[in-house]
Formats: sequence, structure tokens, C-alpha cells
Amino acid sequence: MIILDRVSKTYKRAFRPALDNVSLHIASREFAILVGPSGAGKSTLLKLLIREEKPDSGKIIVGGIDYDLLDERDIPLLRQKIGVVFQDFKLLPNRTVFENVALSLEISGHTNKEIKKNVPVILELVGLHGKEKNFPDELSGGERQRVAIARAMVRQPKILIADEPTGNLDVRNSMEIVKLLTKINKFGTTVVLITHSMDIVNRLNTRTITIEDGRITHDIKHGGVKDGK
Ligand code: ADP
Ligand code: MG
Repeated sequence: MIILDRVSKTYKRAFRPALDNVSLHIASREFAILVGPSGAGKSTLLKLLIREEKPDSGKIIVGGIDYDLLDERDIPLLRQKIGVVFQDFKLLPNRTVFENVALSLEISGHTNKEIKKNVPVILELVGLHGKEKNFPDELSGGERQRVAIARAMVRQPKILIADEPTGNLDVRNSMEIVKLLTKINKFGTTVVLITHSMDIVNRLNTRTITIEDGRITHDIKHGGVKDGK
């Protein structure tokens, strides 16, 4: 589903690469954690996957799309295949929960009928049934992140990438969000959870890719950051 082959990226004026010769394969329907300290290159990897940045060298293929052959016009289509969730939710404050999620479908040209059908289904999935008419500032942090996840998932992307989705949440809400991501994965979406929390890594017994100074230093099938763990 996601293939990176010897990908490197150095930002302008940076003195060292943000990503240095990174090769990675994440299979369809996999749940992978990308863990590493601040500045390790995690968000850069995300930016490359959604084509917000381009690599200096190396190959990226996502869902069968070779980014070297990608036309600028295909980028919106590519971004529909990849749902993204951020630490700071990025919700529109003047729109209700329903409207925030509906907007994602409006932008991609869905009809009102489709919106009325699909938004309630996804709000139910993320556990926000009954909150449709609330505004973001009437919600808890955990609920806001659920709205962001619903917004990302309503277009039914093949891949969901969550960049530090629990960074602004307490432990209980963090675990609820992690549980929700697990549920979404069970329904068939490939999930990449980016975090610097070892607590999450230790609780989720799943593939864990460690990135440090722009390089993958460990890739362990069943959780943890060290071999044999
Ligand atoms: P992480 O998400 O793991 O904290 P990032 O991918 O955001 O790390 O950053 C990796 C490195 O690239 C850091 O050294 C950071 O300062 C640098 N970096 C990130 N974005 C930019 C940018 N737009 N311009 C220059 N340097 C950047
Ligand atoms: Mg980051």
C-alpha cells in the first residue's frame, strides 16, 4: 500500500537531511506505528506521502500510484485516498460537527443526498452520535479529535495517517483515540499512527517503526523498539 525506496529529503537551508535514505513497505490493511523523538522526520514522511513536499531522491509509491509519474492534476485524487489527522484537530470553529464533516464531502463534489446519508454513519462510527449540532468549542479534546477522524474517514480513504493525534489529549482520551484507530483498521483501512509516546507503543502490540535523525533504526513486527522485545 505504501512503498518508500531509498527516500531522502533535505529542506532548504537545513544542515542535515530530515529523511536520509528511508526504505519502507507498509502493506494494505496494516496498522503501523511510526515512533521517534521530536525532529526525527515523522511529519516530513507524512508530507511526502500527501505530496506536500517532494523528496530529493528515492521512489514513493502509494496505492499503486508512482509519485514520479504523478501529474499535478492528480494530487487531489491522491489526497482522497489518504485521510490525515493532526494533533491540533484543525476544525472550523464556526461550523457544527455535522458541517465540519460534511465539508470534506462537499469539497470532493458529493451530492447533498450522499452527505445526508454518509455523515451520520461516520459520526456514529466515531462515537459522536447526538453531537451533530454542537460547535467545536462545545466539545472535549477527545471529541474534537473524533470529529477530525470522522472528517478524514468520511471519504472512505484507503489509508489513514494520524500525526500525533493524541498530543493534546490526556491519557484516557488518548487511549480512546488509539482504540478508535484500531477499530477503523479492523474495518479495513491501512492506519499509520505517528507518535513520540512510548506508552502508546507499549500498549499496542503492533508493528512499530522507529525513526531517529531521519533514519529508520528499528522495524519490529509486534511492538516495542528493540529486537527480541
Ligand atoms: P518530527 O515530525 O519527527 O518532529 P519533522 O519531520 O517535523 O520531525 O522535522 C524533521 C527535521 O526537519 C527537523 O530538524 C525540522 O527542524 C526540519 N524541518 C521540518 N520542516 C521544515 C521546513 N519546512 N523547513 C526547514 N526545516 C524543516
Ligand atoms: Mg511532527
